[in-house]
Amino acid sequence: MLADFSSFKGVWTLGEQREGKISSVSYELLNWGRGLADKLGVELSSIIIGYKIEGVEELIYRGADRVYIVDHPLLERFTPDAYARVLEALVKEYKPEVFIASATTLGRTVMPVLAARIGTGLTADCTGLDIEPETRLLLQTRPAIGGNVMATIKTPNHRPQMATVRPRSRKPLPRDPSRRGEIIFKEYPEDLYKSKINFLRFIKDDTLETPLHEADIVVSGGKGLKGEKNFQMLHELARLLGGAVGASRSAVDMGWISYPHQVGLSGKTVTPKLYMAIGISGAVQHLAGMSSSETIVAINSDPDANIFKVCDFGIVGDLFEVIPVLIERIKKYKEERGND
Ligand SMILES: Cc1cc2nc3c(=O)[nH]c(=O)nc-3n(C[C@H](O)[C@H](O)[C@H](O)COP(=O)(O)OP(=O)(O)OC[C@H]3O[C@@H](n4cnc5c(N)ncnc54)[C@H](O)[C@@H]3O)c2cc1C
Repeated sequence: MLADFSSFKGVWTLGEQREGKISSVSYELLNWGRGLADKLGVELSSIIIGYKIEGVEELIYRGADRVYIVDHPLLERFTPDAYARVLEALVKEYKPEVFIASATTLGRTVMPVLAARIGTGLTADCTGLDIEPETRLLLQTRPAIGGNVMATIKTPNHRPQMATVRPRSRKPLPRDPSRRGEIIFKEYPEDLYKSKINFLRFIKDDTLETPLHEADIVVSGGKGLKGEKNFQMLHELARLLGGAVGASRSAVDMGWISYPHQVGLSGKTVTPKLYMAIGISGAVQHLAGMSSSETIVAINSDPDANIFKVCDFGIVGDLFEVIPVLIERIKKYKEERGND
């Protein structure tokens, strides 16, 4: 006999905040959630946990119909045990049919704990989410078997259907301040908020000049760079363009550049305005992290390189000839224009 899930309704997204300020991933996730809620014809809610959270109505302007807030000094910092208990209490009370989070540190940590506590499934790190029209089931798509196939996973026997999606895989919806919604403050007994984890200190990752995910321009290098010192060229190019330096996994594995720069399936997902793939072949695992970029420029000496199938502009040539010329041209252009 099939289980009766008729009491489970609505799509939820897990919002995130840092020091009370709502993070942009919360709005990106609402874009995913809005699409699913509209297909199901249900409401979209955003959940946000923290302390002294500001500007909650922004979640409504960006697509939520309802916001549930749990605001308490003990929840100021993310602790997986306390956050999971709060989410469990909310899920048990309001019964969403779909609950999604970003595959950030918070989402990747708390969602598995929550799924285990409430006895449902979770598909981590999805690149696509949709609704199957006949069954109303959530279709959770993610790369599998080393990125060689895309697997679509369903959760027919448990609720909520839970998934995390890669941050930066969608842009936030346009802000609409005329949108109206409901904001609900929830309180639970203080014991629920107490964590066994002691927060010591927060260490900022200073290895990137401009964080990759915030850069409008990403200049990425691959094995074609042939050595660590040649990445200096890319740093110079990125500086001139006001962008950040990315890399393929091969370049990272060779020790030419550190892991926080890695773009792809096992690295970061980026959606900049301009992505430059330099000496990168365009393996499917690399494409998984950058193919949604607005404009892709590839520089590769092999005219058959896979990257040319996804790029908007391709230069077939030796990067050691092309990049110095490009740097010189940009410098000259900037001089002529007064460095703007
Ligand atoms: C589970 C799994 C996860 C993975 N995750 C990632 C990931 O997150 N990110 C990632 O990038 N990869 C990932 N990979 C690895 C991926 O499969 C490829 O091996 C990798 O992307 C190749 O890197 P590359 O393009 O720099 O090197 P190559 O494939 O060796 O390509 C080098 C390119 O440089 C070009 N070239 C050489 N000399 C020059 C020159 N002088 N001028 C111009 N072009 C030149 C060549 O024509 C070639 O196309 C993953 C693999 C697995 C199995």
